[in-house]
Formats: sequence, structure tokens, C-alpha cells
Amino acid sequence: MSDSTRIDWKAIEEKWIKRWEEQRLFEAEPDQNKKKYFVTVAYPYPNSPQHIGHGRTYTLADAHARYMRMKGYNVLFPMGFHYTGTPILGMSRRVAAGDPELMEIFHKIYKLSDDVIATFAEPVKIASYFHNEIKMGMKEMGYSIDWRREFTTIDSMYAKFISWQFRTLQKKGLIVQGSHPVGWCPRDQNPVSQHDTIGDVEPDFNEYTIVKFRYGDLIMPAATLRPETLFGVTNMWVNPDVEYVLASVDGEKWVVSKEAARKLEFLNHSVEIIRTKKGREMIGDKVVNPISNASVPVYPASFVKADSGTGLVMSVPAHAPYDHQALEDLRADKKTQDEFGISEIVSPVKIIESEGYAGIPAAEAIDRSGASSQNDERLEKATSELYSHEFYKGKMMHNTGSFAGMSVSSAKNAIKQQITLAGHADAMYELVTKPVRCRCGAECVVKILNDQWFLNYGDKHWKELAHECANTMDIVPQDIRQEFEYVIDWLRERACARKSGLGTKLPWDTEWIIESLSDSVIYMAYYIIAKYVNSKLLIHDNITDSFFDYVLLGNGDASRVSSECMLAESTVEQLRNEFRYFYPVDSRHSGRDLVPNHLTFFIFNHVAIFDRDNWPRQIVVNGSVLMDGKKMSKSLGNIIPLRAAIRENGADTIRLAILVSAEILQDADFSFDTIKGIRSKLLGIFEKAASYPGKTSGSEIQQEDKWMLSRLQRIISETTTSIERLRMREAIHNILYTLDQDLQWYLKRAMAKGRQNIAPMLKEFLGIQIRMLSPFAPFTAEEAWERMGNTQLVATAHWPAVSEEKIDIAAEESEFFISILLADVQNIVKVTKIAPTRISVYTAAAWKLQVYKSILASIMQGKTNFGEIMKQLIADPQTAKVKTDPKLVQKIIEDILSAPLEARSRRLELTDFSEIAAAQDAASLFSEEINKAQITVYSEEDSAKYDPKAKAKTARPFKPAIYME
Ligand SMILES: [Zn+2]
Repeated sequence: MSDSTRIDWKAIEEKWIKRWEEQRLFEAEPDQNKKKYFVTVAYPYPNSPQHIGHGRTYTLADAHARYMRMKGYNVLFPMGFHYTGTPILGMSRRVAAGDPELMEIFHKIYKLSDDVIATFAEPVKIASYFHNEIKMGMKEMGYSIDWRREFTTIDSMYAKFISWQFRTLQKKGLIVQGSHPVGWCPRDQNPVSQHDTIGDVEPDFNEYTIVKFRYGDLIMPAATLRPETLFGVTNMWVNPDVEYVLASVDGEKWVVSKEAARKLEFLNHSVEIIRTKKGREMIGDKVVNPISNASVPVYPASFVKADSGTGLVMSVPAHAPYDHQALEDLRADKKTQDEFGISEIVSPVKIIESEGYAGIPAAEAIDRSGASSQNDERLEKATSELYSHEFYKGKMMHNTGSFAGMSVSSAKNAIKQQITLAGHADAMYELVTKPVRCRCGAECVVKILNDQWFLNYGDKHWKELAHECANTMDIVPQDIRQEFEYVIDWLRERACARKSGLGTKLPWDTEWIIESLSDSVIYMAYYIIAKYVNSKLLIHDNITDSFFDYVLLGNGDASRVSSECMLAESTVEQLRNEFRYFYPVDSRHSGRDLVPNHLTFFIFNHVAIFDRDNWPRQIVVNGSVLMDGKKMSKSLGNIIPLRAAIRENGADTIRLAILVSAEILQDADFSFDTIKGIRSKLLGIFEKAASYPGKTSGSEIQQEDKWMLSRLQRIISETTTSIERLRMREAIHNILYTLDQDLQWYLKRAMAKGRQNIAPMLKEFLGIQIRMLSPFAPFTAEEAWERMGNTQLVATAHWPAVSEEKIDIAAEESEFFISILLADVQNIVKVTKIAPTRISVYTAAAWKLQVYKSILASIMQGKTNFGEIMKQLIADPQTAKVKTDPKLVQKIIEDILSAPLEARSRRLELTDFSEIAAAQDAASLFSEEINKAQITVYSEEDSAKYDPKAKAKTARPFKPAIYME
């Protein structure tokens, strides 16, 4: 705590935000002499403040942008705000209704005052409040955004742009009108998708077949996913406690649950309720199976839910675990049998055979699941397993009429088609997970929407282009590529307009509003235009499609656009040139949840509208953020608003904690322990920058300097490679931890020698560390850079380049050798418990090094067989001496195999390395570390050596013999 109060993080952050703004550092203008790099990230919905989880994508994109700037690119990193759609409207309605859950979130998590909340009854007030809140947070996080290009999706010029996008797609025949089922909010009277639901649930639905069983002159319809099992129906299940209705449905008289009657209305059936009917009234009656005309009884069952399907279930006990279990439950329940006057219980009828199920399949599946009653949840799994097993492997048996012998997958469609054509069946859609709630609070349903507008993502040619784009672009990480391929194949017509919400009207049918996942797919191009709108060079009044055609596609000519839109021709040309300069998008960042929708639509729409030259070049997808290992959620109360976290911990700490805790696709675990560790690392950098600034003296290069310089080149190279692949965790680890470890070693060596002239080395070191830290922790980097005496901003400094001439493998081996030798000596001291005053080190004779190198070469070629190696050594006169000492060969093989790979390849290359020189150079270190002992280094071949215990002959290359007294 005392440490963090000593440094005023907030003052440092404010200082540098101001400095960057004053110097207009992030305002990107076309510059034909510089290569451009255009980074974008999915713009936020301003319906809540951002939390740590949102911070991940934006921080990653910002670090990427800052890195590319240091690499010398002219980087454009802009930001807009997505107001489109119903979330904001839904929220204002919940505010107006005083929704207690929402109020608690406002008060407890967002800490909003009642005055502010009161203004939220007006939707745009919500958007502009959170817009501002998010923007402040982005500035406080140090994001290097060109704010001159900011816009919202309800700006008038944006509406013109989106209208142009849609007219362009329509001209290409990619927008179709038709009737399709969609997820629907009955209160808003609007389709809903992931963005519109509480908890961001995609309202997926299944298609069921409704089979109309005859019930006297009424119809008892049952919804099923398995029409092929119709021949195996033995009875109908009704819940005695559910209230059913008798209703006229498209002129027929149906008995269904109340809930089902409502769902049928949304599916465009004309429904009129005649009267209610208790479930128990129907038990014991008979219904007739339309495919076989068999009459089957109606039985009671508690697993039947009123809101599932029609509230009635056709019972196929041989193939449906629930039905089988309910039948067993009823068979065992004499009381219920008596209550409903049931005298005889039906038996399962098996109609599908498949490998692995000899008897009644449902009974076997129940046995395997361990379920024991119809309300046992394990039946769910048993059901889906049996369903998919029979679908892929099952065959229709002899008792299925003309379908006998068919595979289940074919029979399914054939039977469905036959009964539908005969008027005995209909389709019904049902949400897969229930309930799905709209953000307005209402429970969503499936609706068949007539005359709805769809983007035809099913178009074959369009798909081919989308595949081509995905195949030729860079996708980071690579593992996600398949997911894109899959989504591109799987996408079909998608509703692109809504009846309400904020956004742009469909240009040719103005009662529709273009929805939020359709007006957010090519807006990266709009950042070029937004700058001119914000500077008032572009007024929306006179802008026509020809403006966008020319600026974004190069169609038409500038003078015509100039007169038609009442713009200076030079302005039109400037816009066109700026677009040509910055487009295409070089890198698009987003969370993984946007792969199946936004990111894929982004590809589709670009390939439909733009030439290949302007197709996006890279997509970067990141995982989400966990809080101490748990998912963040409003209900768990573990959401930390970003601005509060910055105030508490400082922006750089948050940035690093988010990026260091996981590689890109994994979920990052944000924890306060990580934060503490990072903060102390940042403090260490401040201290170093303050203690070794300015003037440097002396330029004597010693052993450890050569090593440090060489290590720096290695780390620059590795870190650069990591960042190029967006492996930020690895990069930060190198910058904060590996570099510091190396520095510790360097200081230990230099201090032991009592050196006074290490400032130049430390300055070199810090200069590299701080520059590499700059994309990740820009505030700390700027401040430390300035404390070092630099006058230019580190954000504009060059990314460190590797100086090949500073790579010195002899120096690397030298320090490695010393550290191993030191550890060996320390180990002997520990084991023998002696406190030596004199240490003698013996390095191996020259011929042994020949042996070592020869063995190493063999091992690097994959040869490790002792006999073979021995034979080879004896054949060479230079190494033939080993004949007398086969144990040495065995030991050298072991030494090599236990050395790090890096050391093995280094030693193969080494030509000018002297163990004696290295060990002698470290004499001061040994003395410092070990009891102020005197160290003397001898060669095994030195005839005048001090060797009272004849240790020298046991020396091996890179493994000196040691004698202590
Ligand atoms: Zn709603």
C-alpha cells in the first residue's frame, strides 16, 4: 500500500493523456510516404458502463495499434458507438416501469444517482450517458484512438451510408422478402436476436411436426421431433392437472394447452378459444393414430408440461425413454389406475432396429442412464443419445408398412411428408432453451413473420466469395478458422429489419428499421467519412448514393458527385484518396462470441460490396474474462466497472492483468493477486528509470556486458515474434519477467566485481525494456522514459530492432557455464556442510573437448547408440584415446542429453570459448557468493597445477572438476 501511494498513478495518467492529445499523436492522416495500418474493434453498445470483460478486446486492439505505430506504420485506430436496435428502448421501458432488478444494478454496480436514472425514461439519454461514460473509460485506459472519427449509428449521415449499403445489396439481389420463423418479442412486436435478450441468449428454435390424432370429432395434436416413430405409438399422455382449451384452429376443433394455443397464434394459425377443459376429463378416452388408424388410450403423466409443444405427448415407449418410464410408473401405481379407471396397461411396440439395442431400446437406454422416475433429469440425456443413435444407425422394422427397411433418417422425412400431404400434420417451432427473455423483460416466442426482409446469406455465389475471403485472410488464432468455415456454410436467410428500435429505415419500405447486426458490418469504411462530417466539411442534406459509390467504390466521377452533392470537387477527391489510403481493414478485433454472427456478416458484406483489394486482411478473436475463476455476471455481483478498476489500480495494471493472464483464445482470469504482482513490477521499472538516468560514463565492455547485450537481442527477437502472432501473454512475460531475471544476474556479476561503470549498460537495457513495455503499459512507459532523460514520447519511438552483431554465443555460453558451475559448488557446500576458503576448479583437457564435440554432433543427428558412437570415436585418430576410458564417453552422452536444447546447438557452433577464462572472470562472484573463498582455475593439462586429491582427471567439457578445502 505504501508503495502505491508514493506514486500518484492518477496524476501520471492525466499528464500523459493530455500530452498525447496536445501532440495529436493518434490522429492519423494519409501519408503516401508511410505504410498504413488500419485496426478496428467492434464498437460498443452504450447501454451500460464497460466492465473489465469489455476491456480485454479493446486493450488487445490498442496494444496492437501501439505496437504497429512503433514499427513505423501510420496507424488508424478509430471508435464509434452502436445505438441501433431495441436494447436501449427496452431498458428505458424497464426504467419507466421501475424494474427492481434493473434499479439494483444501476444503484449497486453502476453506482448511478437517482437524478441520472430519472433522465433514462428517454432512450437517447441512456445512450448518450453511457456513451460518454465508455468514452471516458477508453481515454483513461490510454487507448490510442483517433477521436475525430467518432460517430453514433443514429447520426443522419450514417443513415445515408446504411441506406446506400442496403440499396447496393438489393441491386445485387441479396435481399429477399418472405415468410420465415424468427425469435420474437411479443411486447415489442419485434424479432429478437442475441443482442436483444437478457444474458445474450441466441433464440434458437427447433422445428417440430404436429401429428393430428382424431379424438371423436375433435383433434388432439401432439408435437414430435420424431415423426418416424408414429407406428410405435401406444397411447397419448395428458397431464391431469393442466388446463387445456378446446379451440377452433384454422376451422378445425383442437384440444391443446392454453400456452400452446397462444404459440399457434404467433405461427399464423387463426385460433379462437371455445372453452377450457381439464386434463383429467380426457383420461381413459381413446384417440386414433392417423397413420395406422389404430385406436389408443389416453393416460395420465406428470412429465407432460403445458408450455412444451401442444401440452400433449404421443407415447412411443419402445423408443422414447420418458414414455417408457411414465408407462412403468403408471404400471406400478395402482392408486392412479383406480382413480382413472384404467384396467389394462399397454406394452411397448418396437418399430426400429439398430445395432447395440437387442430388446426394447428405451428400456435399455433408461437402464444405462440410471434414471428411476419420469421426473428424473437423466432421462434427458438418455433421450438425446437414443435419438441420435437411431437417427444415424436405425432401420425401420417390418411393422412400419411401406416404410419397412428404410433408414430412420429417410423414413423421418418420408413419413412427415406423407402425413402432411394428407392433412394429418403441420409444422410447429419451439425455442430450444426456455425461457428466453427480451431485454424489455417479456418472454420470447417463435413467430412466423410474413413479408419480412432477409439478407440471403444462403446465396451460393455469395457463400463462395465469403469462403474465398476467409481462406485468403489471416485469422488469429488459427484454431478459429474452421469455425468461420462452418458458420459461412451454415448461414441461411437472416431477418435484417425490425418494426421498432433505433436505427436506419429500410430505404424502400420505411415501416422497417435495419437491425443492429446488419448495420454494423461495413461501418469501418465510415470512419473515413465521419472525420469530414465532424469537421463540418460534409453536410448530410445533399449527399446521394453517387457520393458513396464514388468515394467507397470508385464508381462515377468526382465532378458529377461534386455538383450533385454540392461539395467542392477537391473535398470529394480528398475523401476518395483517404479511403483508398486507409482501406482495407488490416486487423479486426472482436470477442469470440461474435464469430457466428457479426464477424461472419462482416466478411459476407465486404465481399458483396467491395472489390477484392478492399476485403479485410485479418480477424483477431479473443476469449472472455473470468473474475477469480468465475464467469462475470450481474447476478453474481462480480462485475467490476472499468473506470472504478482504473481508479483503484491504475490503467496500466489493469491493461497488463487482462493481457497477461491468458493467451488469446483462452478465458483470461482476472485476479487481485495478479494485480499486486504487476503493480510491484511497474514500480520496479520506475525506480530503475529514476536511478540510472541521464549521463553515462565509461564504455569498458566486460564479459557480462557482452552477455547482456546478446540476451537483449534474443528477447527483442522472441518478443517481436510473439506480438506479431498476437501472443501478448508471452510477450509481456518476456518484458516483465525474463528481462528482469537477466538483469538480476547481470547486476550480481557486475556488483561482485565492484564495477562503477555499468550505467551505459543499464541505460541500454532500460531503453529496450521500456520501449517494449510501451504498447502494453503506455503510461508507465512514458513516465519512465521521461525520467531516463528522453525528450520525445516513447509512443513515437522505434520498436527495438535486433542488432545481429551483438549476438555473442560465446558470451551466452560463458554466463550459462558460470551459473551452472556456481550452482554445482553451492550444492557441494550444502551437501558436505564445509565452509571452504579455497576452491580449485579443473577444466577438461583439450582432447576431451574433441570427444565432446564429436558426440554432440552425433546426438544432434539423432544418433544416441553408445556402441556406434564409440566406434566412430575410435576410428578418428583425434579421439581414439577414448578406448582407454569408455566411462567418459558414457558420462558425456549423459551430460549432453541433460543439457537444454539451446545449449546443445550453441556448443556445436562455439569456436572461441574458454572455460578457464569464463571461470576466472567469475572469481569475484564465487568469492562473493561462497564464504569469501579464493577460487583458482587450472587446466587438467597444466603440469604445475595444485591437485592434492587428483580431481583434475575427472574433469569433463562444460563440467569442470571441483576441489574445496
Ligand atoms: Zn421486448
